[in-house]
Amino acid sequence: MIRGTVLIAQEVCKGCELCIAACPQECLGLSEQLNIKGYRYVRLIRETCTGCINCALVCPDAAITVFREPKGAAKKTLVVQPAT
Ligand code: SF4
Ligand code: SF4
Repeated sequence: MIRGTVLIAQEVCKGCELCIAACPQECLGLSEQLNIKGYRYVRLIRETCTGCINCALVCPDAAITVFREPKGAAKKTLVVQPAT
C-alpha cells in the first residue's frame, strides 16, 4: 500500500474542515489549540494517510502539502504543493 503524509501550514489554516471531510482515511482533525489567526487548525491525527491528495485539492488556502512514499522506499516524493 502507498503511504503518505501531509505537511500543514498551521498558521495559514482557517479551520474550515473541508480537508477533514475530503479525507477518505479519516486521518485529519482539528487541534484544540488556536493558531495566530484565532482558528483551530488541522493536524494529522492518524498514520493512515495514503497520499491521495484530496485534502490538498480542496483546501482553499493551499495550506496542505502532500508527500507520498511507496512502502519500503527510503526517500519521500513530493506529490503536490498547491500554488499560493
Ligand atoms: S493525502 Fe489523502 S489520505 Fe492523506 S490526509 Fe490528505 S486526504 Fe487524507
Ligand atoms: S481545507 Fe485548508 S484551511 Fe480548511 S481546515 Fe483544511 S487545511 Fe485548514
